[in-house]
Amino acid sequence: MQIIDGKATSLVIQQEIKELVEQRIAQGQKRPHLAAIIVGDNPASRAYVGHKIKACERVGFQSTLVECSDNIQESELLAEVEALNQDDAIDGFIVQLPLPDHIDEQKVLEAVTPTKDVDGFHPVNAGRLSLGLPGFQPATPAGIIELLKRYGIETSGKHAVIIGRSAIVGTPMTLLLSRNAQPGNCTVTMCHSRTQNLAEITRSADILVAAIGRAHFVTKDMVKPGAIVIDVGINRIPDPSKKSGARLTGDVDYDAVAEVAGHITPVPGGVGPMTIAMLLRNTLDASASS
Ligand code: NAD
Repeated sequence: MQIIDGKATSLVIQQEIKELVEQRIAQGQKRPHLAAIIVGDNPASRAYVGHKIKACERVGFQSTLVECSDNIQESELLAEVEALNQDDAIDGFIVQLPLPDHIDEQKVLEAVTPTKDVDGFHPVNAGRLSLGLPGFQPATPAGIIELLKRYGIETSGKHAVIIGRSAIVGTPMTLLLSRNAQPGNCTVTMCHSRTQNLAEITRSADILVAAIGRAHFVTKDMVKPGAIVIDVGINRIPDPSKKSGARLTGDVDYDAVAEVAGHITPVPGGVGPMTIAMLLRNTLDASASS
């Protein structure tokens, strides 16, 4: 069994990006600039945005954080989005999710101009992905593809099973693994909350991607020996041994599944850090074409 180390791979990619930024600056080009809009005080969202800003510093990007209060009106948030759309200094930006209930998330995501949509959530970028055209790909599935590539994992002709059909993970993952590319060319089965005989399907997976949001959902008996197991889940579970009283764990029952898997991503230190690396890469691309 081999552990797929997303943390180390992410740092390698960040070093590569840093070198490209230095080359561009030496040639008199502009420093890439990522902005993030955050609404409210959700601690998890704050932590995610904090990681992204720190990563910008590491690779030599400029970053801007736009902080909005929990009770911001939808029209005011749309105005903040439009200000970033119009700001030539900003190459790309994200709106950290989730947004408060009184705001229509989809409306806000659709207000982001597609050429600055480095999260790849705008329908134009989702459509381009589904048509196999270039565009910004959502960072989490793109990070998984990058891990498969860098670990030299053969995907062609393999059966990939994706658990989860969200617009940001499950659906784009299904598209990326099925397209005619390397990595890609998988036969993909997408599973979701209404899937019957889930364990039977997952046991036939050469590559199993879990993006459900339920701790330890994927158990050892659901995994074919030698399978590549990619755990996207981030779940907070009680742990009295930690100062905070909680720790993060994935959707996979890691210790037991690691006994049968060929490759496995840990949580933390697997897919999460790759998401940040791919956001930086998208921003670098946005800056090159701006
Ligand atoms: P989501 O809630 O939008 O989707 C969950 C999916 O799981 C749904 O499509 C649902 O059909 C499926 N599901 C629920 N119960 C099921 C069941 N019993 N059997 C089969 N399928 C079932 O979640 P999401 O946004 O896709 O995120 C999934 C998980 O990944 C969460 O834990 C989230 O925190 C994590 N996540 C991690 C990263 C990262 O960078 N590592 C990024 C995004 C999301």
